[in-house]
Amino acid sequence: EEYVSKFSEKTPKSREIWLKLRKLTPYGVHSNWRVFEPHPLMLQKAKGSRVWDVDGNEYIDYTMAFGALVVGHANPVLLEKVKQKMDEGTIYGYETELSCKLSEVVTRRYGFDMVRFSNTGSEGTLLAIRLARVATGRSKILKFEGHYHGSHELLMVGVKPDLKHAGHPKKPRSVPTGFPYHVVPKELAENVVVAPWNDAEAIEEIMKVHGNDIAAIIMEPVAMNMGVVPAKKDFMVFLRKIANEYNSLLIFDEVKTSGMWYRGAQEYFGVKPDIMVAAKAIGGGFPFAAVLASKELLELVGPRKVPHGGTFNANPLSVYAAYVTLTELLTESNLAYTHKLSEELAKGYRDIIEDKGFEAHVVQVANKGTIYFSREEINTWRDFVLKVKWGPWYVWTLGMVIRGIIPQAMAYDEQWTISIMHTRDDIQKTLEVANIVAAEMKG
Ligand code: PLP
Repeated sequence: EEYVSKFSEKTPKSREIWLKLRKLTPYGVHSNWRVFEPHPLMLQKAKGSRVWDVDGNEYIDYTMAFGALVVGHANPVLLEKVKQKMDEGTIYGYETELSCKLSEVVTRRYGFDMVRFSNTGSEGTLLAIRLARVATGRSKILKFEGHYHGSHELLMVGVKPDLKHAGHPKKPRSVPTGFPYHVVPKELAENVVVAPWNDAEAIEEIMKVHGNDIAAIIMEPVAMNMGVVPAKKDFMVFLRKIANEYNSLLIFDEVKTSGMWYRGAQEYFGVKPDIMVAAKAIGGGFPFAAVLASKELLELVGPRKVPHGGTFNANPLSVYAAYVTLTELLTESNLAYTHKLSEELAKGYRDIIEDKGFEAHVVQVANKGTIYFSREEINTWRDFVLKVKWGPWYVWTLGMVIRGIIPQAMAYDEQWTISIMHTRDDIQKTLEVANIVAAEMKG
């Protein structure tokens, strides 16, 4: 209503470009996750915690490229080095000394024997699944409802299902897939068993039926395509145990969580997966992903063995960016700093929610967090669909955006990311604006 017209008034050039772009690409976005009503922002430049749109509006940004920028926008240390590196060429199609050094850094940091690099999270989960199937000689994968592992067919099942198509709550298989059309061939979908998150009892039942056919259990250790829903710690321990029991592999999709703690999710949960997929933040804003596993598993990859290739894999720019990111920027102390700011933001939001008596609560884990417009705890995708109100979230987001704060990636199933370049002052300003928006929403 009022916020929508203010948003449109402030962003006419974004709208103009979007209208043009909409004729050239569906919905005027090159990734579905960027759709926003009345239109998405078109950005022009970014620095530190700030971004500027084509209309010249400045924002404190908590999207941080959907979590790909824990180093901050245009991090000067990183950019200076990568710019120099670029003079030596952008891609060779050969390995480099740096890809060797980075392999050492990554395997040591996360505690695995070997690693394979690629460019995106999707490519990472693709290899992880392939490895698990070959290693176990089984074809089924167990995944969780609401978890997203990339835009390929293998795991595009039960991703954001509407509950009518998602099956029984304890066994929410969604063949075809929850999509209103045939995106995933039935034969593929039938090899994916979809389970409810944080529900050990249901997994036990599912494993009794399918366990001996399950190559791997794959998960987002903190489910972050439905806000922020960490595994309960005993649920995680249970998953490790039941995977062992049935000789299935445990895969952590750490595309988002690898930028949260120094050693990734295993540091937080005290549980180590058989295969880890890291991406987004570890590339410092460059396309980069890493699949980590034991020597026994990764040595299955090779010519006339398990195929894995990629023209852009371990390209020198991404490799150098990841090297600088992991050795100089995403250090333990810098990550601790992002956690601290994230806690302060969460506390500030909680105070506002309490003060205004909103039906909402905040979940914050490490440098991530979100506001759920619901008082009830959110443990599963079904909780998220049934209990969280989308309307107030939208009003809240628009209210913040028109005052220069992008409070999280502009989709209600996303979360905030605090980078090492955010400041206390940013948090302070954000909370001041949040207070104003909350007062307006109350009124
Ligand atoms: N896995 C998770 C948990 C993600 O959040 C994403 C992307 O948002 C992906 C995989 C896919 O990564 P990419 O978009 O780099 O292919």
